[in-house]
Amino acid sequence: GLGGADLAGWIRHAARLVSADAERLTRLDAAIGDGDHGLNLDRGFSAAVEAVDALPGDAAPGKVLIAAGRAIVSKTGGASGPLYGTALRRAGKALDAATTVDAAGLGAALRAALEGVQELGQAAEGDKTMVDALIPAVAAYEEALAGNADLAACARAAADGAARGAEATVPLQARKGRASYLGPRSVDHMDPGASSTALILRALADAAG
Ligand code: ADP
Ligand code: MG
Ligand code: MG
Repeated sequence: GLGGADLAGWIRHAARLVSADAERLTRLDAAIGDGDHGLNLDRGFSAAVEAVDALPGDAAPGKVLIAAGRAIVSKTGGASGPLYGTALRRAGKALDAATTVDAAGLGAALRAALEGVQELGQAAEGDKTMVDALIPAVAAYEEALAGNADLAACARAAADGAARGAEATVPLQARKGRASYLGPRSVDHMDPGASSTALILRALADAAG
């Protein structure tokens, strides 16, 4: 299973991947939004790393994710900040006070994150948002879990599912968020938030493996 230090490692690794890909994310957002997604997330995850670094080394996994989520909500501009912050806080709450997370626990946390994002943002599958990466990620995770895959394999399945989901946003017309203002002109572009979700879940698979 994963301990609090492993989840802190996930947040640090996600922050590195976001920072390395910030320009690409911003370019995606420049095409169908306002061109700040990379900057928003880079700022948010830097704040999350600071928050996680300030915790005691033996902090429980749930506490780590709640601290990261709070930092992201308070430091990240745009629609994505509250959504990612909520996702992490909900995942953290789902883990409760457990000192280690097993494969089933991580699956429940991912599902809670998805539910939090949908509750706050009211996006359905196919609206061309981060939900389109999260839904196939959670489904692939749960399918792997049902097949008795270990935690690392479940996390890889989730990352692959998110990447496929992000690719599948390209032909969609946006119905939520800024990109929806473009109407049909939002077609033929990857949704930036779906792409960053794939990146963050890739970081989770790396940290879990
Ligand atoms: P903003 O659009 O406010 O500048 P960002 O550029 O940081 O914020 O994030 C844009 C991303 O947020 C979109 O690509 C989309 O994935 C996600 N998003 C926007 N609105 C919603 C929503 N209602 N539900 C889920 N995700 C959303
Ligand atoms: Mg933007
Ligand atoms: Mg913005």
